[in-house]
Amino acid sequence: MQAAEVDFNHLGFSYIETDYRYVARYHDGHWEPGRLIKDAQIRVNEAANIFHYGQGVFEGLKAYRCQDDSVNLFRPGQNAARMQQSCQRLLMPTFPVDEFVAACKAVVKANLDWLPPYQSHGSMYVRPYMIGLNGSLQIHPATDYLFSVFAFPVGAYFKAGFKPVDFVTSDYDRAAPQGTGAYKVGGNYAGSLLPEMLAIKAGYNDCVYLDPATHTKIEEVGSANFFGITPDHTFVTPKSPSILPSVTKRSLLALAGDRFGLKTVEGDVPIDQLATFSEAGACGTAAVIAPIGSITHRGKRHVFYSETEAGPITKKLYDELVGIQYGDRPAPAGWITKVPTV
Ligand SMILES: *Cc1c(COP(=O)(O)O)cnc(C)c1O
Repeated sequence: MQAAEVDFNHLGFSYIETDYRYVARYHDGHWEPGRLIKDAQIRVNEAANIFHYGQGVFEGLKAYRCQDDSVNLFRPGQNAARMQQSCQRLLMPTFPVDEFVAACKAVVKANLDWLPPYQSHGSMYVRPYMIGLNGSLQIHPATDYLFSVFAFPVGAYFKAGFKPVDFVTSDYDRAAPQGTGAYKVGGNYAGSLLPEMLAIKAGYNDCVYLDPATHTKIEEVGSANFFGITPDHTFVTPKSPSILPSVTKRSLLALAGDRFGLKTVEGDVPIDQLATFSEAGACGTAAVIAPIGSITHRGKRHVFYSETEAGPITKKLYDELVGIQYGDRPAPAGWITKVPTV
């Protein structure tokens, strides 16, 4: 497909092969100079650690076309730093933060024809990743790695309006208390396919993962972080060593406190105390916020604000963050990185 053939108003979230990706290789103990290439295929030895032992990490962020046609990346340094933490957990070499950000900018600029127009409410999803390229089939870290960044256009997440989604708790765990849940490592996701499939089969959008040790507290909602809002205007989000520290969640915490005067709490969210919340949401790069209509736990359905409409504070937070991302509202210092377009 060519960029000119894309119908930017009817895009979903699905990989499209765009023109350029950035690649850099780690060999002999250092990163070789990276470059943009056109080939979307990679040749990897059959014994590579990524295939057998899951030595791989990834990130996800977005680029946005603004009304004035300039291009924003949202907090790429946060993703760069988080990838370094993921790499350290899997004994992979870290990729420098400034080079990570430069690679994301270069890939967006090289694929600018694929960046949806402002009016479409679409954006460009940027996917940096790193994989172990070799291995001996002994369980040891690889010595050679690929760091790469590719990008593809994605549509507006809420085509039919900002509509609530329904979740059900899962008996499965996505992570162990001191395992890899706090790191964006590929291995966490294969195990989430079955619980997600079961939730969808039962008529829900996705499942809620409870804390793996006691199954009494909310950890994650699908592959997003949870937040709830109490009637006295406190923004509450779980704190745990096994949840993925979401950049979107961190951003909402800051906006909730600094711009909307909410109290903010990171702490326990007991699954049997959902009635303390008048609104709830799932947050992450893909949707920014998916308002949560209901959570069903052991056959009991708890409805938050409404099953058909997002709550007013959820809506305000969503509009503020999306406004910042598209350059329509003032960004806190350091949140926007401009991508050069000429
Ligand atoms: C990526 C991810 C999130 C959301 O993080 P963002 O930085 O906001 O995109 C939440 N939970 C899981 C499990 C994730 O993989």
